[in-house]
Amino acid sequence: MAEFTMELNDEQKEVRDWLHGFAADVIRPAAAEWDEREETPWPVIQEAAKVGIYSLDFYAQQYFDPTGLGIPMTMEELFWGDAGIALSIVGTGLAAVGVLANGTDEQIGTWIPQMYGDQNDVKVAAFCSSEPDAGSDVASMRTRAVYDEAKDEWVINGTKTWATNGGIANVHVVVAVVDPELGSKGHASFIVPPGTPGLSQGQKFKKHGIRASHTAEVVLDDVRVPGSCLLGGKEKLDERLARAREKARAAGGVGVPPAEGWGRVKNAAMATFEASRPAVGAMAVGTARAAYEVALDYAKTREQFGRPIIDNQGVAFQLADMRTRIDAARLLVWRASWMAVNGKPFTAAEGSMSKLFASETAKQVTAQAVQILGGNGYTREYPVERMHRDAAIYTIFEGTSEIQRLVIARTLSGMPIR
Ligand SMILES: Cc1cc2nc3c(=O)[nH]c(=O)nc-3n(C[C@H](O)[C@H](O)[C@H](O)COP(=O)(O)OP(=O)(O)OC[C@H]3O[C@@H](n4cnc5c(N)ncnc54)[C@H](O)[C@@H]3O)c2cc1C
Repeated sequence: MAEFTMELNDEQKEVRDWLHGFAADVIRPAAAEWDEREETPWPVIQEAAKVGIYSLDFYAQQYFDPTGLGIPMTMEELFWGDAGIALSIVGTGLAAVGVLANGTDEQIGTWIPQMYGDQNDVKVAAFCSSEPDAGSDVASMRTRAVYDEAKDEWVINGTKTWATNGGIANVHVVVAVVDPELGSKGHASFIVPPGTPGLSQGQKFKKHGIRASHTAEVVLDDVRVPGSCLLGGKEKLDERLARAREKARAAGGVGVPPAEGWGRVKNAAMATFEASRPAVGAMAVGTARAAYEVALDYAKTREQFGRPIIDNQGVAFQLADMRTRIDAARLLVWRASWMAVNGKPFTAAEGSMSKLFASETAKQVTAQAVQILGGNGYTREYPVERMHRDAAIYTIFEGTSEIQRLVIARTLSGMPIR
């Protein structure tokens, strides 16, 4: 197990500087344009693919870095450039992680390369879990997958919503109910291969922020996928469902608290989310740092009453608080990420803690940055207006702040806090 460190090693510093250069030279200059266009920035993704930032190899290398700092460092730099464009670059990773976490070696080898395409023909992927009536309450998902034994095919019907890259993805990973009696334990994930009939894009959403990232409904109308598209395979699914049914029977039914208490109960999907939350925290740190830097520069150069506005404690103390919160958020993110990579259990929901604190920090710091820039901060002449809109997503996706607090409180108390 790698020791926890707060210092990047030389190799990591080199990668960080390279990512920062891409964020500063390619992402940041394109940010305002793609925010206005509200479209996927394909040329920027292609540019990222050309230099090696948009590839499975790169993310796998960072993901398996034993210090745990590879992914947070990557996210912070790219999102420092621009959140919407960065999400277009890393959004495919959500679907890839879904396959890495639950797929067989063959599924990983077949589907993940198709998610990224290649530098001449880049592709994106989508992870589709949320539904109109099932956001935080994942267990109330309705999309249904039914096995057609005669054809060894799964038939999927339902509507997914708010899917990043939904409908424009080459490969969609879709979570569906296979046993409605078992709540979230009766879910399974499926690959929907490119060009599968029955899958279509529904409404594309116009958004408050991260507007360069495509978000849409995905409609699944009698979508038939081969048995081999069930992530993990049928045998593993049948075993898992049998275990879940047995547990539910022993506990007296689904929803009855088990003997070990709620805080200790987690299904595989929840554990995966916990582990991926520090990455979202790192995105938030990137946006917060970007806004803080603009505000600091501005406060040092903008003069009112014959002196720079930073000469006022009211402004300087805000900047001191902003930087303190950003550094604290990064420390929580790095700790959780190191724990996740090294298999240390989150006994105090440290993954959720990092996401909660970092995303609230991004919202607060970007709002302070707008205030420090005054009228200029409120216009699109300066980037903090966009950063403030972008930051609002962090407290919503991958589990809202309230859900993070719920996870932390349940973990700490072992009680079914509602
Ligand atoms: C831009 C964007 C991209 C997204 N990308 C994806 C994606 O790629 N794939 C995907 O599957 N989903 C995606 N989502 C969906 C996202 O994960 C959900 O929006 C999120 O989980 C919240 O669900 P909801 O919107 O239904 O809110 P709700 O669950 O309806 O919550 C509404 C409010 O009620 C609060 N609340 C709910 N339950 C409780 C409770 N028990 N206690 C206290 N407060 C509670 C919430 O915190 C929130 O403030 C995306 C969303 C957006 C906006």
